[in-house]
Amino acid sequence: MTPLAERIASLIEASGPIGVADYMMLCLFDPAYGYYTTHEPFGADGDFTTAPEISQMFGELVGIWIFRAWQSAGKPSPVTIAEIGPGRGTLMKDVLRTLGRLDPALARNAQFALVETSPRLTDIQKRTLHGTDVQIAWHTGTETLPPAPLILVGNELFDALPIRQYVKTASGWRERVIGLDKDGKLAFMAGPGAPDMTLLPPDAPGAQDGAIVELAPARTALMETVAHRLAEHGGAALFIDYGHAEPGLGDTLQALRRHEYDDVLAHPGEADLTAHVDFSALATAARSQGLTASVTAQGDFLLRMGLLERAGALGANGNDALREKLTGEVERLAGPSATGGMGELFEVLEVVSSLKGQ
Ligand code: SAH
Repeated sequence: MTPLAERIASLIEASGPIGVADYMMLCLFDPAYGYYTTHEPFGADGDFTTAPEISQMFGELVGIWIFRAWQSAGKPSPVTIAEIGPGRGTLMKDVLRTLGRLDPALARNAQFALVETSPRLTDIQKRTLHGTDVQIAWHTGTETLPPAPLILVGNELFDALPIRQYVKTASGWRERVIGLDKDGKLAFMAGPGAPDMTLLPPDAPGAQDGAIVELAPARTALMETVAHRLAEHGGAALFIDYGHAEPGLGDTLQALRRHEYDDVLAHPGEADLTAHVDFSALATAARSQGLTASVTAQGDFLLRMGLLERAGALGANGNDALREKLTGEVERLAGPSATGGMGELFEVLEVVSSLKGQ
């Protein structure tokens, strides 16, 4: 058992089974043993590789989106350009370089902000962005961002926020919880709590026993907070994650440890835990604040932002090895799942306020 597994087991012994959301929170953010607190998740030595770490083109194209979103918002000044959940700070580095080329005055005058909860990752971001000649402020939540128009981006943020699961039993839908089996090991079971049936997907009523659905109140709450701010001050937000555009049944909670899938309960604190993002729930939360929201597949989004042209420009003065590398990156970022690409599995949510600034 990992040290965190022992702690969770004694917690359950003392006060009963815990929900999936609590389990995710402990596994990811426990101050002593949490995965994000203690591990370096990203890159070849970590457990997973994210799009900004795969290719500089990803951040560059997000930079182009930011520039266009700022133009469409009426070129507001002052404006805050922010990223939430920046990991190693790689995306922001590529964004800053791109904005500096597209519009040096915007890069000089915008207030840049990074929103990050992990002190360890904040330090890494400061190192990555050290030496860039713009002012960057760090925040631990969106509440403290300046009261100004906001252009916000977030890659693989929502999948790290906790979900709740519900399981269909002979006596109806019950919250899925984690308790102890007869050997004292962590095990999934059905708890006493029932979900608000109006929140379940349309295929829930006909589901077989054992079927699972997921709800993510923490994700909806964050989306509503961001949307409320955009509705009040103007601006736009872009969220990229893996997930599904339509709600539905299914257990998507997964653990990744050293680049391999792991049993979700096997190594608490030593594996990354994520669950697919329900983009329709996020879009609904944004629309409830009067914003426009649209969902596109990552591949289509990147092509629309000029992925092929950017790859062509970068490869034009290089050798064949560079062009081959760029082709590989394009395939990985925008290609279909069948060939290992992220283009279909990852979705992009664009949220836009109709307020025009100046
Ligand atoms: N965007 C990066 C990292 C993704 S991992 C990339 O694509 O490589 C998720 C990131 O979100 C981590 O930096 C994690 O510490 C941060 N995070 C998790 N919950 C958060 C929250 N509620 N607010 C801000 N950041 C959060």
